[in-house]
Amino acid sequence: MNAATVDTHCPYCALQCGMGLRPAGPGLQVVERTDFPVNRGALCGKGRTAPELLAPGARLTTPLVRDPATGALEPATWDTALDRVADGLRRTGEAHGRDAVGVFGGGGLTNEKAYTLGKFARVALGTSQIDYNGRFCMSSAAAAHGKAFGLDRGLPFPLDDVARTGCVILVGSNLAETMPPALRYLTELRENGGKLIVVDPRRTRTAEQADLHLAPRPGTDLALALGLLHLVVAQGRTDEEFIEARTSGWEEARAAAMAHWPEMVERITGVPLPQLREAVSLFCDAESSMVLTARGPEQQSKGTDTVGAWINLCLATGRAGRELSGYGCLTGQGNGQGGREHGQKADQLPGYRKLDDPAARRHVAEVWDVDPDSLPGPGRSAYELLEALGGDVRALLLMGSNPVVSAPRAAHVEERIRSLDFLAVADVVLSETAALADVVLPVAQWAEETGTTTNLEGRVLLRRRALDPPPGVRTDLEVLSGLAARLGREKGFPTAPEEVFDELRRASAGGPADYSGITYRRIAEEDGVFWPCPEATGPEEAAHPGTPRLFLDRFATPDGRARFVPVTHRPAAEETDDAYPVVLTTGRVLAQYQSGAQTRRVAELNAAAPGPFVELHPRLAERLGIADGERVAVVSRRGRAVAPARVTGAIRPDTVFMPFHWPGEGRANSLTNPALDPTSRMPEFKVCAVRVERAEA
Ligand code: SF4
Repeated sequence: MNAATVDTHCPYCALQCGMGLRPAGPGLQVVERTDFPVNRGALCGKGRTAPELLAPGARLTTPLVRDPATGALEPATWDTALDRVADGLRRTGEAHGRDAVGVFGGGGLTNEKAYTLGKFARVALGTSQIDYNGRFCMSSAAAAHGKAFGLDRGLPFPLDDVARTGCVILVGSNLAETMPPALRYLTELRENGGKLIVVDPRRTRTAEQADLHLAPRPGTDLALALGLLHLVVAQGRTDEEFIEARTSGWEEARAAAMAHWPEMVERITGVPLPQLREAVSLFCDAESSMVLTARGPEQQSKGTDTVGAWINLCLATGRAGRELSGYGCLTGQGNGQGGREHGQKADQLPGYRKLDDPAARRHVAEVWDVDPDSLPGPGRSAYELLEALGGDVRALLLMGSNPVVSAPRAAHVEERIRSLDFLAVADVVLSETAALADVVLPVAQWAEETGTTTNLEGRVLLRRRALDPPPGVRTDLEVLSGLAARLGREKGFPTAPEEVFDELRRASAGGPADYSGITYRRIAEEDGVFWPCPEATGPEEAAHPGTPRLFLDRFATPDGRARFVPVTHRPAAEETDDAYPVVLTTGRVLAQYQSGAQTRRVAELNAAAPGPFVELHPRLAERLGIADGERVAVVSRRGRAVAPARVTGAIRPDTVFMPFHWPGEGRANSLTNPALDPTSRMPEFKVCAVRVERAEA
């Protein structure tokens, strides 16, 4: 590569900050890209230090194959490793049926990889058993989006609109730690005279910025949203003209909200009534307002209904489908948006098409040059797939995920993974899950390969290759192509990212997430292109400009109206009792990312956040006789985790918090509850019942 700076994007979260990469010695130096509109040059420590993991010493550079004699993973050639994987997958399919082979993907994979992985499962393996870790991340918001608006795109407007609206209710998001460069939109909002309401059981760094902080008991966000809507109706602050002109289903949703008396909501949530009233005033007094949700309300066994309740609040007050107003979900993973659009979900074909839609099957089968009837039907959701491992799913190909740390009820999931007949993992590092594999395939990283991601705004971006991968490393596309060839599919699995993207464009054409008018050249020239962006149908037609703002004229439902969804509060799947009297909630810290497989290997990040902790209120600590810094055990019905106590008044006295980035004795997901939302199949990471005790007890 030449010595010029290459414009690209961070490998981590869904903000997909723009950055430049410049050769520096044997590695790369990160430089600011102040012209990129989303982060305007700002980066958090994770982005700044991302090149550290590119060094050969920090990552895998040779395939590893488990030696049956010693049980150890040993270096192998690529041919040996790929032969072994193809053999393991083929033999399992032949012996137990095609659905005995599973595929598990990730929300960090580029669009090209997610697309190819879905195609690989359905065409090369012929299995229905594919899903991905994005199911754990924002599937409840996606489901609620679909129900209400007929289309799922995290934010239906650019982030820049957040700074210019009148009031934002931010629910269950700690932007100051998860994506710090985005915090400036909230700062600018307040500088412009707008109001910020933060809903979070913890007084986080983000909550400290708020005009109003509501701290509900975990698992009660649904009641909170219903209580606010009740007050809106009672105070006559609904927008009847908007409801009449642009929505359907209001009467049922209204009746459901009116059953949630504010006093009852105060009792359920623990949020004082005056604060509920103040929130309604701030939200309705502003000329425009938004609700933004993240994992807090979404990672619940009623996450879809909870998001639906917040959407109902927006619709009832006319805060949707208008400039500077609306509901949005702050997607978490690097390609959390694109990763859920192009076919690695159990029920999905590219372009956000449905696998059980005959027309969608015909369209995609034609692009793939296969018989539509040969495509399998929908498979299981992520946790259900992990549960089936070692049962009727006996071999697994895993790419871009580390469920041993990140899945709920992780010890059980680890046991299921260990019980597989065959496991192959493609990863950058020897993650906790890769360490259990029969074959580990070392793959290229963000800066070593070109590909597109779609950020939390629905803006399709181009990550460019800035240096060659080290010898011994291949790209995920090369891995899938090599495996497909060994499974009898010599054609149809190209390795050039742009060639894959061009096929993805055709596969998505006419679908809900239509990328057909987006090209690598356009993305580069326009700082990203917002989908939907259909291709011009003739030489005379101007290129579609992309769609930064959705729903301004009509919603994406058949009649163009947004749909209210009647929802009612229900408790968490697991309530506290005498044996487990405290609520556990989990989340992230500034210096680590998701399962920590990458960030735990970066010295600066590890020094800033070296291990797990248990955050608890001084009153709870005193009652349990626990001192700050003392090792405590948190015990749930699923397991036990041990970590130092961090005593702080910034959390509710009935709640403890643990970050989930670490394996071993401090693994927070040893405790979490895999109870699933009935619609999105999202596990209830955010609330379960635990007891807390001194570790020696
Ligand atoms: Fe990377 Fe997210 Fe940090 Fe931006 S905020 S630098 S995208 S981790």
